[in-house]
Amino acid sequence: MRGQPGEQEQQDLSRLRAQFPILAQSIHGHPLAYLDNAATTQTPLAVQQAMQQFEQRDRANIHRGVHTLSQRATDAFEAARATLKTFVGAGSAHELVFTSGTTEALNLVAQGLWAAGPGKAWLQPGDEIIVSGLEHHANIVPWQQAARMSGAELVILRPDAEGRIHTQDLQRLLGARTRVFAVTAGANATGERPPYEEMLALARQAGALTVLDAAQAVGHAMPALSALDCDFMAFSGHKMYGPMGTGALVGKREALQFLYPLRLGGDMVDWVSYEAAGYAQLPARLEGGTPNVAGAVGLAAAARFIDEVGRTAIDQHLHALRAQALAGLQAIDGISVLAPHATQASLVSFVSHDVHPHDIGTLLDERGIAVRTGHHCAQPLLDHLGLGPTTRASFALYNTSDEVDRFVAAVAHAIKVFQ
Ligand code: PLP
Repeated sequence: MRGQPGEQEQQDLSRLRAQFPILAQSIHGHPLAYLDNAATTQTPLAVQQAMQQFEQRDRANIHRGVHTLSQRATDAFEAARATLKTFVGAGSAHELVFTSGTTEALNLVAQGLWAAGPGKAWLQPGDEIIVSGLEHHANIVPWQQAARMSGAELVILRPDAEGRIHTQDLQRLLGARTRVFAVTAGANATGERPPYEEMLALARQAGALTVLDAAQAVGHAMPALSALDCDFMAFSGHKMYGPMGTGALVGKREALQFLYPLRLGGDMVDWVSYEAAGYAQLPARLEGGTPNVAGAVGLAAAARFIDEVGRTAIDQHLHALRAQALAGLQAIDGISVLAPHATQASLVSFVSHDVHPHDIGTLLDERGIAVRTGHHCAQPLLDHLGLGPTTRASFALYNTSDEVDRFVAAVAHAIKVFQ
């Protein structure tokens, strides 16, 4: 896998692409070039087959049945949990809670830290929550509500004019009142990769609980969770070749204990009377209700698929594609690429001085090229940078150098047509 492939690499890439049947279609008479992977990646056959096998052979409710199917389903669910813990490099101090994605995982943390109320919750009036200014709405809005509900103050670690956040700025903000620090491992609007390892360590030293949004990073070569000073990490399955509506919150057990469980009901209790209930141990305590078992099975299959291809090989491929796209876009007059320095390899986002991104996106679609246009759920960051909506192309392991050429040519054409 490389950006400018030789014959062998081209064959490897073709074999890989054959595992993603959705890619072999035409859109408006052109071969599909799917470059919207930061929003959602496609799933390989291995993921689809794992889910189908579960549905056709093992489907039953988990944890409550003595019958064979229920036991098989429970085993499949718990095996998926174990696979994913290994995949993210969780240690023995960690637990993995299945969620519907990053958004739900971050809400479990943010709400869980205020919902127990005054005197009991982790967040109390006068505390501070520091959130990086690079974040997706999913890592901002829950903290706005946490601040409102607990009486804590929301403090933003503001990016510079190039969209970078700096460790020394965080150092200045941290203090005795800091109770939470939340940051992304990769900004979805710009591709910026903040120095989150150092930032998490600093915040932890200051006594804060640390939260990492790994939605854009978990499919890449990132440090093992156990090597990070991270109390909570959130990710989504559909951004790592897994099923939609799946994901997880992985946290240190002692930090997860601070979370007030939000989904109250079946499966998260040890006993219930009419008056009261005894909540179960982690992770069940945070997993009330029937989970998406087929989704968990598919997500584990996606993790195995990524490991088989190799995260370093994937990153090299994505770096090459991004470098090619960046060079191509920078040669077009009238557009500016956001955060061209960004080291998170998998996307390029740009603005045209004259042409609206929706026009560019529509014209690209006419040529079979799928990109995302808009604010990418990161409006505060784009506002801070003085930008409006952008056009974003984001790459995955199945994208080819030829697709990047088509993308750059189509952008150049769009700018010419609309200018
Ligand atoms: N965080 C980041 C950095 C993202 O890119 C996204 C999705 O684009 C999310 C959070 C939200 O993920 P989900 O919609 O899967 O919950």
